[in-house]
Amino acid sequence: MSSYERFDRFCSVNRDGGEKCRGCAYLNDNRRLSFEVIIIPRPENISLVVLSEYPTEMFIEPYRTGKDMGPQERLVYLFESAMIRPLINELRTFAKKNGLYDEEKVDRLEQLVMGETYWTHMRKCFLPSEIKDIKTCADRWLLEELDRLFDGDCIRPKAIIALGINARDWLKEHGYDDVIYFPMPAGRWTRKWWDDEKKKGVIGDGINRLHKL
Ligand SMILES: [Zn+2]
Repeated sequence: MSSYERFDRFCSVNRDGGEKCRGCAYLNDNRRLSFEVIIIPRPENISLVVLSEYPTEMFIEPYRTGKDMGPQERLVYLFESAMIRPLINELRTFAKKNGLYDEEKVDRLEQLVMGETYWTHMRKCFLPSEIKDIKTCADRWLLEELDRLFDGDCIRPKAIIALGINARDWLKEHGYDDVIYFPMPAGRWTRKWWDDEKKKGVIGDGINRLHKL
């Protein structure tokens, strides 16, 4: 069995036939919005992993719409619907505003992110927006999921991007020190990246690292 097949098997076992987050503390919680657990289809080759915190209620509709699509079409549709497209847009704008812009490089980066990214979440269960827990599904199976991507005889993506400080800190706590960190690319948590003086260095470093992959 190839490392990709082992990885797919691991993901499908954990979502228990496609719908449930197996063994999760939220499995029988009546506040759950549904029994679905969010799994974004993976690209054929995984070069990059993006870890974000959790799916919001706004993501339910695209997630359901995508269900009728084949895996590759669905992947692109979900990337365009949330998080990944805004990430690319922020990277492009940040690079332009900070003298890092090289159209060819940024286009290449966009191809890499759109075509070779496995996007996963700390919390994979859909919950009402007032529940801010991000660790439950992470404690349940994220570490093993990442180990299967990064450790030993495995897929070995070239880099992992943490979106938001919670993702970054969780990865650090669990031994993933070499992480590319970006703020959330959208939503009420962040100011526009290029306005954030404190984060400029970190974002610029991240972009330069992605250019080298
Ligand atoms: Zn869960």
